[in-house]
Amino acid sequence: MSKILVIAEHLDGKLNSSTARAVSAAAAVKPEAIDVLVLADNVDAIAADAAKIDGVSRVLTVARAENAHPLAAVLAPQIAKAADGYSHVFVPSTTFGKDVAPRAAALLGVAQLSDVMSVEGTHTFKRPIYAGNAIVTVEAEPSHVVVATIRTASWPAAASGANNAPIEALTLDVTLPSHTRFVELKQGASDRPDLQSASKVVSGGRGVGSKENFDIIFKFADKIGAAVGASRAAVDAGYVPSDLQVGQTGKIIAPELYMAIGISGAIQHLTGIKDAGTIVAINKDGEAPIFEVADFGLVGDLFKILPELEAALG
Ligand SMILES: Cc1cc2nc3c(=O)[nH]c(=O)nc-3n(C[C@H](O)[C@H](O)[C@H](O)COP(=O)(O)OP(=O)(O)OC[C@H]3O[C@@H](n4cnc5c(N)ncnc54)[C@H](O)[C@@H]3O)c2cc1C
Repeated sequence: MSKILVIAEHLDGKLNSSTARAVSAAAAVKPEAIDVLVLADNVDAIAADAAKIDGVSRVLTVARAENAHPLAAVLAPQIAKAADGYSHVFVPSTTFGKDVAPRAAALLGVAQLSDVMSVEGTHTFKRPIYAGNAIVTVEAEPSHVVVATIRTASWPAAASGANNAPIEALTLDVTLPSHTRFVELKQGASDRPDLQSASKVVSGGRGVGSKENFDIIFKFADKIGAAVGASRAAVDAGYVPSDLQVGQTGKIIAPELYMAIGISGAIQHLTGIKDAGTIVAINKDGEAPIFEVADFGLVGDLFKILPELEAALG
């Protein structure tokens, strides 16, 4: 029987919804148990949140000062140790998971399985390849522990509230490396919703034309309470910072509403919005490929259409 260890992702003492998405993927394996591992300095609030997620059997916590910041070099040896007795270790395929999971896999002597989008069997999974142009079925070696990252955009967050899983403190006999230490975290301060988990996203592309012009995107996003994203061309041109990039080499997102403004719809961009609900495109070129995937398309100048839309919203 399978036993799955899900690694909790958290920030500022709060559990990230990516964890509940990884729990959904774990539930699809139909395992005997799904345990969530919380590695933090203060574990209580995070563990309490994790214990409420449907399907979670136990929450295991390791409270150590060294776990105050998610340093992969520090977390991976603890994950590898805690993985003892588990058939699978699932980690969300977010920046956090992509950092920590390969290290844990290497320490366990296995190859990591990346971006699981569906579970076909206990050791058979589907994942995207070629920038999402093809889906490959992968079979993991049943005699080895499966260390997998879970493509969060492909999985709904498991419901929360009805469960009350036991929380157990774990003592892991593991020497942590001292070669990597936390110096400082630099992150863009923003009151806007987080791009990766927002239900509405407004993205601008090269068509927006300049850093200054991008204000029109920020203004419209604020009007509808959306997060802001961008194409790689807009990022490369310096209109916005790279953490706003959506696509193959940026963020993979699944908002309910995605608005692509002045974005042509290159395959590398579309792979980041494959799981979006409603897609709206505004582009002056009626032949732009974005219209092939858009549910609603407005052909015209974004500098004319956006103010009109904004006015119509009142
Ligand atoms: C390995 C690799 C990885 C990549 N990863 C990513 C990725 O993660 N994300 C990503 O986005 N791209 C990625 N790319 C780049 C991708 O191929 C495209 O070059 C990029 O997405 C184009 O961005 P864009 O649509 O903003 O620009 P363009 O393709 O130049 O499109 C601009 C659009 O704006 C429209 N426009 C111009 N002016 C106006 C106006 N006034 N009003 C309305 N519309 C207007 C034009 O008609 C045009 O369709 C990657 C490429 C490679 C090779």
